Amino acid sequence: MRFQRFESTLWETTSLMLVNGPSAVLVDPGISSAEVAAIAAAVEEAGAEVTHVLITHADWDHISGIADFPKARVYMSAAEAARIDDGSATDRLYHYAAQAGIAFTGPPRCDAVLVPGQVVDVAGFRVEPIVCPGHTPGGLAFRFPELDLLAVGDHLSPNEFPFASHSPAAYRTTLAMFVDLLQRDPPEFVAPGHGPLQSADNSLRIAEADLDYLHAMYRATARVVADGGTRTEAIERAFAVEPPREATPDLAAERTENAERQADELFARKV
Ligand SMILES: [Zn+2]
Repeated sequence: MRFQRFESTLWETTSLMLVNGPSAVLVDPGISSAEVAAIAAAVEEAGAEVTHVLITHADWDHISGIADFPKARVYMSAAEAARIDDGSATDRLYHYAAQAGIAFTGPPRCDAVLVPGQVVDVAGFRVEPIVCPGHTPGGLAFRFPELDLLAVGDHLSPNEFPFASHSPAAYRTTLAMFVDLLQRDPPEFVAPGHGPLQSADNSLRIAEADLDYLHAMYRATARVVADGGTRTEAIERAFAVEPPREATPDLAAERTENAERQADELFARKV
């Protein structure tokens, strides 16, 4: 049993190949057709066949390579599968791939869902799916005990800040979970969705810095609410909180989105 990490030229996006004899499992194969073809070639070179594809979450840069493996069974959480079922994840894939000038093979699919906390055997690998809401509604991290590997999806990246596009409150809970896991039960390898493999110690430092950032944004926004301020003021204050690290300039909009989502969570909508 072994694994190998592949990196896209866009955002250092991670794809993983896990090989167990004649079977291979891919995590988030992507992004362009050419990059996915290189992964498929490595599988062939290993004398294996892709039997399963595991998807951390249904953002376009993580689902663009699914169509390259029509014979594999594709797994993700029910919440992320729903984004494919309702067409929204597929629409975003076509939109953003065109915008980035990236060619991909076809639309994504989900063949079966994984239940968080329910350990499954995938091609002989034990897989522990861990639910990670906040970036998206129901992303999964995957723990592979035989490989001492934890694939964390779009969290704990050494070269991005947290994108809490679904819910900052949920993202804080996810990070607190990672801090606990990395302290008490650290794996040897952590594979973030963007950036190189990390040690558990490095990932723990990233998780704590990311959690500090989200808490600071929350406190800044909560003060505006307590003082009777407006949503616009709250967004300004949340935006002023410095992210824990730089990201590529094309991701600047994500900082604004974080501030808007944080304000949304504190200005209750009438129902
Ligand atoms: Zn991503």
